[in-house]
Amino acid sequence: MLSGLVVAALVLSATPAYAADPRPGLGDPYFPSAGNEGYDVQHYDLRLSYEPTTDVLTGTATIRLTTLREMSGFYFDFWLPGRWAKVDGRDVGAAQHNGQMLVGAGGDVPAGASVTVEVGYSVSPSWTHAESPITKWRQTADGALAIAAPTMSPWWYPVNDHPSDKATYDVSISVPSGMEAISNGTLVGTEPQAGGRVAWNWSSDRPQAPHVTFLAMGQFDLRRSTTADGKPVLNAYSTALRGTAAQESVERTPEVVRFLEGKFGPYPMGEMGGLVTPFRSLPLETQTRPAYPAGAFRDGPNTYVVAHEMAHQWFGNSVSISRWSDIWLSEGFATYAQWLWSEANGEGTAREIADWTYRYYAADHEIWDVAVADPTTRYLYGAAVHERGALALQALRTEVGDEVFFRTLRTWAERKAHANATSAEFAAHAEQVAGRDLDELFRTWVFSAGKPAVATVTTTREPASFDRINRR
Ligand SMILES: [Zn+2]
Repeated sequence: MLSGLVVAALVLSATPAYAADPRPGLGDPYFPSAGNEGYDVQHYDLRLSYEPTTDVLTGTATIRLTTLREMSGFYFDFWLPGRWAKVDGRDVGAAQHNGQMLVGAGGDVPAGASVTVEVGYSVSPSWTHAESPITKWRQTADGALAIAAPTMSPWWYPVNDHPSDKATYDVSISVPSGMEAISNGTLVGTEPQAGGRVAWNWSSDRPQAPHVTFLAMGQFDLRRSTTADGKPVLNAYSTALRGTAAQESVERTPEVVRFLEGKFGPYPMGEMGGLVTPFRSLPLETQTRPAYPAGAFRDGPNTYVVAHEMAHQWFGNSVSISRWSDIWLSEGFATYAQWLWSEANGEGTAREIADWTYRYYAADHEIWDVAVADPTTRYLYGAAVHERGALALQALRTEVGDEVFFRTLRTWAERKAHANATSAEFAAHAEQVAGRDLDELFRTWVFSAGKPAVATVTTTREPASFDRINRR
């Protein structure tokens, strides 16, 4: 079914007629249709305008990409109906089907070419139709949110939606004055516009994976400051929040980041902050500015969730996964950062939390049913990658000792900064730093299912931090 487009001159086909034809999907084993081959995006420039009374998002997405081979067009992941498309300033045909948009190049483009694709749209992102899954766009009483994992971006802009294609972003969102519009990166400024509106201009100059981009519009209190080493901090708290537990936690972000720098090396982003909403959801490591639900602070201040999401700025956001099955490189490391934060706060050492976690999950518990490095989509965000990923890191620490272990983490963050990585690459890196073979350790803790046998489990009581670490 073709939908929405003024010009729909192209026929979508999974089997290319000739070599230059684009093919949808990158073939990720977990999400085969996510992302698109044949090009690499350098930059997204999103000029958006949102009207909360009608829930209509009007925008132009300008995508600067480089072709990786000869291409006659470009697929993007996009659930909203486009109205027009241009390539290098010329009107071109486009068509949409099943969450994919094909933009014709208007002729064959050689490999290595720099191409600018523009797509215009104006629609309610709550729009849905027979062939689309339920939108993850969330209209709220005071605005709207585009925050969800593992895939949200195709519900608000055309995108190469796979963590292996990171790009820089400029995002401008116009909203009625009196509303706030928050996104990733640095707030460059706000611009008054005609009709009582204000454009909020955000810029992300470090490469970002699409799944950690976000948009939040509504009533927010902003708190801005600067870290001791000059990085801007911008926190946004929904005015609907009750109590001060969220503020008491998220305002400590610079302190948490300083602690993590001591373990992982320099903070890889140019700014930091947090966004807190009153809605039910999971915390998400949206780049530079994690999104927290109020529920994360329902029993009082909780800096463990801050430690987790800020650790993702190194592991997950700077060092991104190459394919979804490697997600423990993101979640296992962020969970381990919580164990380190606990250790520093005298609420249980990483070893004690590891031992307790090991005891907590009996051998027949489902978390041992999969390999950490291949958790299946079912356990993508479960304990099988979070806790077991952290257990694998504790096993490595026990094996190689603190000095080698922390050098392994720091040099990994440095070597793979703003790039992508696989589990096999991490194992090879750990072996190189340790100067010895660690095959058996990685096979046991990362590449195999089943509860590993361990020599001694010493902890007999629950560490003080355990409940707050595992509150998701
Ligand atoms: Zn996480």
